[in-house]
Amino acid sequence: MSAGGASPAGAEAVQVYVGIGSNLDDPHAQVRRAIAALSELAEADSFVVSSLYRSAPLISSDAPADQPDYINAVVGLRTRLAPLDLLARLQAVEQAQGRVRDGVRWGPRTLDLDILLYGDEIIAQETLRVPHPELGERAFVLYPLLEIAPGLCLPDGRRLEALVAACAAAGLEKLEGK
Ligand code: ATP
Ligand code: CA
Ligand code: CA
Repeated sequence: MSAGGASPAGAEAVQVYVGIGSNLDDPHAQVRRAIAALSELAEADSFVVSSLYRSAPLISSDAPADQPDYINAVVGLRTRLAPLDLLARLQAVEQAQGRVRDGVRWGPRTLDLDILLYGDEIIAQETLRVPHPELGERAFVLYPLLEIAPGLCLPDGRRLEALVAACAAAGLEKLEGK
């Protein structure tokens, strides 16, 4: 199978991790709805969810300033969907939850779903890059991922624990029991 291409019928389920973020229109509720929708894509007994986290928006010259904080989580699941089919399903969930793509990168949004990892695959297509290129630098991805996949190694051999140790958690707050 070519990376990102169609998955043959009867293909093995693959372990994937998806990052969730929302900072518009009741972000807690958006994230909970997204978690419910993503659980529908999972093979039986394979769905795991991190705690919810609050994170300050990315600071970058390309990102609009003065956005609300984000609510983030990471989920893990096994799926038989091929990578591009999974991406299409995630984008359908984003749309169903009112995501407006206005061309503003990193602007506020009701829901953002990113494929963080798709098994050990490395995918470098225009529409899909896996592992997610910023995975190693984002506290709001690394810390929740560590909760649900503590021993994880990236396809390039980097260990998740080491990435977390090198990534300051400034601006990130774990929401206990919310
Ligand atoms: P970032 O990717 O830096 O977190 P973003 O999530 O705000 O930014 P979007 O506007 O949501 O970016 O997505 C832009 C495009 O990124 C999507 O249309 C999609 O085709 C592409 N893309 C590339 N790799 C991935 C991935 N791993 N997961 C989700 N989308 C991806
Ligand atoms: Ca994103
Ligand atoms: Ca995205």
